[in-house]
Amino acid sequence: EPITIKSLSSATGIKTADIIKYLFKQGVMATINSAIDTEAAMEVALEYDIELEVREQQTAIDKLKEAFDKRERIDVRPRPPVATVLGHVDHGKTSLLDRIRKEDVAAHEAGGITQHIGAYRVTIEGSEGAEKTVVFLDTPGHEAFTSMRARGANMTDLVVLVVAADDGVMPQTIESINHAKAAGVPIIVALNKIDVPQATSDNIQKIYGQLAEHGLNPVEWGGETEVIKTSAEKGTGVTDLLEVLDYQAELLELTADFGGPAAGRVIEAEMQPGRGSVARVLVQSGQIKVGDFIVIGRAYGRVRDMTDDHGRQVLEAGPATPLEISGIDDLPDAGDGFYITTTLQAAEQAASQFREVERHQQLASKTKVTLDNFADQLKAGKTRELRVVLKADVQGSADVLRESLEKLGNNEVTVRVIHSAVGGITESDVLLADASEAIVIGFHVIATPTVREIAEEREVDIRLHRVIYDVTEEVTKALEGMLEPER
Ligand code: GDP
Repeated sequence: EPITIKSLSSATGIKTADIIKYLFKQGVMATINSAIDTEAAMEVALEYDIELEVREQQTAIDKLKEAFDKRERIDVRPRPPVATVLGHVDHGKTSLLDRIRKEDVAAHEAGGITQHIGAYRVTIEGSEGAEKTVVFLDTPGHEAFTSMRARGANMTDLVVLVVAADDGVMPQTIESINHAKAAGVPIIVALNKIDVPQATSDNIQKIYGQLAEHGLNPVEWGGETEVIKTSAEKGTGVTDLLEVLDYQAELLELTADFGGPAAGRVIEAEMQPGRGSVARVLVQSGQIKVGDFIVIGRAYGRVRDMTDDHGRQVLEAGPATPLEISGIDDLPDAGDGFYITTTLQAAEQAASQFREVERHQQLASKTKVTLDNFADQLKAGKTRELRVVLKADVQGSADVLRESLEKLGNNEVTVRVIHSAVGGITESDVLLADASEAIVIGFHVIATPTVREIAEEREVDIRLHRVIYDVTEEVTKALEGMLEPER
């Protein structure tokens, strides 16, 4: 938990105004909710002859996580990649996922039954006879992708960007590219609807050009980006796509410890009649067994039964396995972590502390980047980059602004526009800013009250302007810490 002016004041009895004044004299602009580092807090307290003892608060779940991170690895092996499908609406994300599912050899064994459990595992007989497995998260689209990331739960190793051959790169394609890039996740392109008459080689070359323009230079053009021609309708290219995903996973050297007690993340959770709370999870490490004690976000319990993506009961499972589990006392949130504990008591304790922390979430939330506090964070060495999501009314302004903003960087700090597009500020822009610790700048555009509300909740700084000079001046001042605090 960061120390804020407010918490420092209530711990020491020093008035917040006095703390702010003291910091101001030191050249630090702060408001009542600003976070300050431990040293600065001690310095302020010393001014008032108060010796401040700062204790790191560690919850049971932190300890589980730490113990997990530090434990000895038992059986580290390569693991299948986890992929998410992104792309513009109607370009074929859902159809492609459906078609991929049909390629699964295990589905044939299970009589073709598939169960929606938030993710599924597809195994194919590779071209050299070796089995190749890929896990797909079942909710396509960058909103789901980025809202998971905003919760600190990046489960995706690879993004499959679906681009329809008859439509090319569209606004949500660009959004998807920027969301994937901001997450640092490699992109493989599925050039879909390759069966339609408009998929002429001329049009394909044109789309390659659009992709290259957005930093995805196709391998066919000597670049780095794999572009696989697919038809979700006819099934063309689907095994090629799976092979490329498998190959990319190899390049990323993805591994997991297949031994020891399991850990993983929640994909989704729901109440089911007769079963109570069930959680759909992805095992990321170790082994989970029926009968294990488990803490899973605010919930805990003993694993009663586990079902796989073909509706089959399983008794034990390892990394990269999506499962539906029952036996827990409450519904966890998507993105929450789970851990296996040695006793039921340990699981209960971790869950109850999780609930406790949740109650004080305001305090526990990470320091948000705002233009007001950016210089402080820069000085404290917490950042060297101001990230911006930029929305403008016309492309020309977006381009000019992007260039002007990125020019403001110097030796100490860079300004990076992680997404720029034409149009009003959307929920997805706010999510991206939240997940990437960025601010949002709108030029001649607005944010609807709903979007503003979400931004306020997530403490995402939105700045609206109508004059280019005002934008650059504001950012320049923020970089130098010369911005007059708002409020
Ligand atoms: P999403 O919005 O990206 O999930 O797109 P959908 O999967 O819902 O597909 C949108 C439309 O495109 C549907 O009518 C599909 O039948 C059609 N479609 C998807 N993939 C293909 C394809 O490869 N070829 C053709 N001809 N149509 C496709």
